[in-house]
Amino acid sequence: MIIDATFVTSAARAGDLPREGLAEIAVVGRSNVGKSSLINALVRQRVARTSAAPGKTRLANVYRVARGSGVPFYLVDLPGYGFARGGRDAAREFEKLGRAYFGRVSRVSQAGQVGKKTPGVAALLLIDARHIGLQNDLEAWRWLKATVDRAAIVATKTDKLSRAERLRALKANEAAFEHPVWPVSANTGEGLDQLWKLIEQLLNPNHNNPRRSRPPLPHQKS
Ligand code: GDP
Repeated sequence: MIIDATFVTSAARAGDLPREGLAEIAVVGRSNVGKSSLINALVRQRVARTSAAPGKTRLANVYRVARGSGVPFYLVDLPGYGFARGGRDAAREFEKLGRAYFGRVSRVSQAGQVGKKTPGVAALLLIDARHIGLQNDLEAWRWLKATVDRAAIVATKTDKLSRAERLRALKANEAAFEHPVWPVSANTGEGLDQLWKLIEQLLNPNHNNPRRSRPPLPHQKS
């Protein structure tokens, strides 16, 4: 399947984000969790770069992505939250950033209710498959669940674990987050097809075919 992906903008403020009204999938996670690698692996080209200027926080890098005949959407790469400090500080940092990004999205949605089709907003929380239930990841997930319409958890770098370890870690993370976790590896490509299905499901939450086998539903805000 052909995947078309282009870099749109690196936004410093919410006001710089595109207003085209496309659905958005925001990718969030700790620094170094493998966000850029996963985005590149998903779109099968090097569109995402690891932070070229460390210390210079940008709000978001935005990519416009279309897969096959699918409707284009924005893949939004939010800066990683700190992993050295952890705990409350990292959670606060993430909340500040998240509010700037997701707050603007909910304003777009509200404006869209007047006649225009509302753009969907979903988030993928990336966690490292090897690290079970880290405090700042749990905090980020709690915040996302309360804030975003739809969200799912993706465990990266599964190739760093043996088959048996992979299963054990997956189960432990699912227990810690009390939610399904999608295992992927940007290096081997494992789990990428399933991740695309998940993305399509997040983009079209009302278009599930119940007869098709599919992974468990991502979190949906009630
Ligand atoms: P980001 O800071 O979240 O964007 O993380 P990067 O994509 O830059 O990845 C951080 C480090 O993890 C880099 O050294 C990558 O090569 C490595 N990495 C990312 N994804 C994978 C993966 O699936 N498998 C392995 N083994 N390494 C990975």
